[in-house]
Amino acid sequence: MDLEKLLKDLRVLQEGHFVLNSGLHSKYYFEKFRILENPGAAVTLCSMIVDEFKDKNIDWVIGPTTGGIIIAFEVARQMGKLAGFAEVRDGERVIGRGFNIKDKNVLIVDDVMTTGKSLFETIDALKKKGANIVGMAVLIDRSSVKFPYEYFATYRKVVENFEPATCPLCKENIALTKPGGL
Ligand SMILES: [Zn+2]
Repeated sequence: MDLEKLLKDLRVLQEGHFVLNSGLHSKYYFEKFRILENPGAAVTLCSMIVDEFKDKNIDWVIGPTTGGIIIAFEVARQMGKLAGFAEVRDGERVIGRGFNIKDKNVLIVDDVMTTGKSLFETIDALKKKGANIVGMAVLIDRSSVKFPYEYFATYRKVVENFEPATCPLCKENIALTKPGGL
């Protein structure tokens, strides 16, 4: 399967001149909702995560809100395991809802990994609840972030971000796009 072609065809991977949530500019943008709105494609990508971790004795699959809920649900469904999520309450990411993860083997999943912030927060939230983190997996990794666990990305493209003042795309006067939004 040509994953890059699939991601371009679905408009997940977009090329142009984008301003990211961080304020930095980039030539590429990954729109995770073009995967999440397409269950067929999401199921296919999730099955690659399942293959990677099928021998790891996973009990729970947990992802950070929002997209991580969907990925966790589908990966857990294919594995025949339980699914939960880490949500933000009063500014802090927590595992609530009575998810009984103490001493359980947890696989952390998410859709697109950009800075890793929500994943690092999820690690902390799981540790507070006494879970045993056995690995991490994302559909798309556009970073060079390293995690202290076994890690898998179905697709990886390290994308350079630019400060607006020194952005080469700005210098070329390429129209700037602000992706996402309402
Ligand atoms: Zn720019």
